[in-house]
Amino acid sequence: DSPVLTLGETMGLITGGRIGSLAHVSDAHVGIGGSETNVAVSLSRLGVPVTWIGRVGDDSLGRRIVREVRGEGVDVRAQVDVDAATGLMLKELTGQGTARVYYYRAGSAGSRLAAADVPAGLVENAALVHLTGITPLLSDSARETCRSVVGRARAAGVRLSVDVNYRSTLAPAHVAAEVLGELAGQADLMFGSPDELAHVAPGGTAPTDDRAAAADIGALVRALDPGGTREIVVKRGADGATVYRDGVLVDAPGHRVDVVDTVGAGDAFVAGYLSGDVHGWSVEKKLARANACGAVMCTMPGDWEAAPTPAELDAFLASGGDPVQ
Ligand code: ATP
Repeated sequence: DSPVLTLGETMGLITGGRIGSLAHVSDAHVGIGGSETNVAVSLSRLGVPVTWIGRVGDDSLGRRIVREVRGEGVDVRAQVDVDAATGLMLKELTGQGTARVYYYRAGSAGSRLAAADVPAGLVENAALVHLTGITPLLSDSARETCRSVVGRARAAGVRLSVDVNYRSTLAPAHVAAEVLGELAGQADLMFGSPDELAHVAPGGTAPTDDRAAAADIGALVRALDPGGTREIVVKRGADGATVYRDGVLVDAPGHRVDVVDTVGAGDAFVAGYLSGDVHGWSVEKKLARANACGAVMCTMPGDWEAAPTPAELDAFLASGGDPVQ
């Protein structure tokens, strides 16, 4: 099987050991995280071959990223950048199942990704290329890398998946709207929450709040795809998700779960969807797997550690993973 190809920044992740500000909490957990490797690990657990390209610093967290992601069965092609450090996220637990994340990534090794880091053949021979809206906002060279990879995928007829994944800390809203609109505009398969999709829709401005955007998902997806040529997946948190394809909207409810930590649910959801996409599954079947992956992810801590295997998904569905009606 040809692998899925993804690229982007993965950082060290320091999480407070208990609820409270890191100004006072003194025990912490050291891990790693980044949207694209979260998706890659999830895909690997689901049995899909996957390659990740990124840069890490010549430091302990960089070595940890390479070892852990590779240890999950992902084909890791990481450049070690001796001129910059691996980026860092600090996660403060603010309550039961809620957290605040602080990024220390400006000028990081991961943000220095360059088009030359993507060897000839990797894009061209991929089953699918998956990018997120985080990468083109990291730096000029990372934006050029995305443009180059998109161009190569299109030239080779390789399917392109984009998760809008808008991070307001990376760029002012109008810059993000332009850059992410350009990227998402090339995608065959697009993921986003209602507000993220509203942000990249033609004429989109600052993100609206979720409920206002959700009120008219039909109008939103038609604005994004007037020609009816792409597949748009709207992530709706606990409510599940909606897919627009061939002019038809398909809804699937979320599962009722005891939420421990929702971070990473979106990435697990995307991986679940892509795992079916590369096998040519129906929209309904892809959505069912994606919602189950997202829900399982909410029941355990960690951004990617709890990514389920097919057997774990079956067990979840068999033991009362009731869809919300
Ligand atoms: P994040 O960026 O925090 O990982 P996201 O905003 O990209 O998440 P969400 O819409 O929050 O994505 O979640 C993605 C999917 O995960 C949902 O479509 C749903 O299938 C599942 N999910 C999320 N939250 C819940 C929940 N509370 N209960 C059940 N399923 C959930």
